[in-house]
Amino acid sequence: MGNMGLPVISCRLGVEVMGWLRTKWRSFRRQLNTFGVDQELKDQAIAASVQRVFWTAPVLSLGNFLVALSFWLRNVPHGGRELLWRNLISGVNFTVSVISMLIWLAAWRIKGSGSSARKRALFVYGVACYVLAAGLAISLIDQLAMASIAAFLLSATMVGTLYYLHPHHALLLFGLAYFAFNRGLVLVGGHPGSVILSNQVNGLIAAALGYALSLLNWLHFRQTTLQQRTIEEQQRKLRVLAYLDSLTGLPNRRFLDERIDREAALVREGQSQAALLMCDIDRFKLVNDTHGHLAGDDLLRELAALLEKNIPAESVLVRLGGEEFVILAPGVPLGEAARLAERLRELVEGHSFTLGGSEVRITLSIGVAALTGAEGVRDYYNRADRALYQAKELGRNRVVAAP
Ligand code: GH3
Ligand code: MG
Ligand code: MG
Repeated sequence: MGNMGLPVISCRLGVEVMGWLRTKWRSFRRQLNTFGVDQELKDQAIAASVQRVFWTAPVLSLGNFLVALSFWLRNVPHGGRELLWRNLISGVNFTVSVISMLIWLAAWRIKGSGSSARKRALFVYGVACYVLAAGLAISLIDQLAMASIAAFLLSATMVGTLYYLHPHHALLLFGLAYFAFNRGLVLVGGHPGSVILSNQVNGLIAAALGYALSLLNWLHFRQTTLQQRTIEEQQRKLRVLAYLDSLTGLPNRRFLDERIDREAALVREGQSQAALLMCDIDRFKLVNDTHGHLAGDDLLRELAALLEKNIPAESVLVRLGGEEFVILAPGVPLGEAARLAERLRELVEGHSFTLGGSEVRITLSIGVAALTGAEGVRDYYNRADRALYQAKELGRNRVVAAP
């Protein structure tokens, strides 16, 4: 019995451990996913990085050129490691200077033209690899004469701060750079084991620092970009709301003013004709008094829907306020607009609105005015309003067209 127990326990233990590992893995994946962003944000990060490459490449190029020059002009004893070091350092710095210039030109082309997102991403990651590789190469060459790893530290810091790299890619990049640096130190040799070990540790710190900076940079970019997106979305909603009437959902007066302006301009240029129909419910106060204000609101909504369904497609129906609606009919001359008004008047007269179980009938008075193109927005309102007033004077439930 005692012999049987052991396999059972170890089997259970195995299952437990597997389960534990699986939950750990899942939570790790979830953690990674918090970096998860949509394609648009990735593309924005790449585009911003291309800009940064563009602005920093000439500075890098100049800096490397000056370093190359200063090393070249240095006097060193002939023969030996120091001369080799000097020649290599100035050669590499000069090469880096030239390549940085080419990168600058490439960034200039890529940022302007409609290059694909993929091409831009390849470019940015290529530049990041190149900067790390340059720092790595210079640091390894430095080992010929000294134990400094300043160039590697500098390049890791630059890649960490200058470009917006996705954390997964950055981890891979800095990991590979450190691996190459570590192997390179051993290959180049030239120092006691303790110095090499110290440099390996410092290189690890440099790579970790670069990655930490890159991560912070990315998180900051993501946060500000998402905030910016929210602000833009809210602004868009506000703009829409600013042009809407909240009761009926129709466009409002502000919207109409701008449309009238545009239509009047077309009329002025002789390209079109247009008319304004000002509609007012007759004795609406009575509806409110009899059925209540809320029922009145319902009626206004139903009337808005009814009119909307029965006006030409290009026309714009707007609630001016209260129980007044305006229709802007583009491309419609005055006579035709009066006939449209008459059709709508008959439609409303024949429609029965249901308010809280009881049927209600209303009528409309409509004033029609043409947009002449020679007046301002207020003048068109005024003329349509005067025609409407006349319709009321003449006994309501009728259409009057302004001369
Ligand atoms: P008229 O034929 O001369 O136009 O008479 P009227 O009663 O329609 O006109 P008046 O201008 O005297 O009254 C308009 C009424 O419209 C007064 C107000 O109670 C009502 N009204 C205005 N805005 C709203 C609204 O948003 N909801 C409701 N339910 N009623 C409104
Ligand atoms: Mg009124
Ligand atoms: Mg009225």
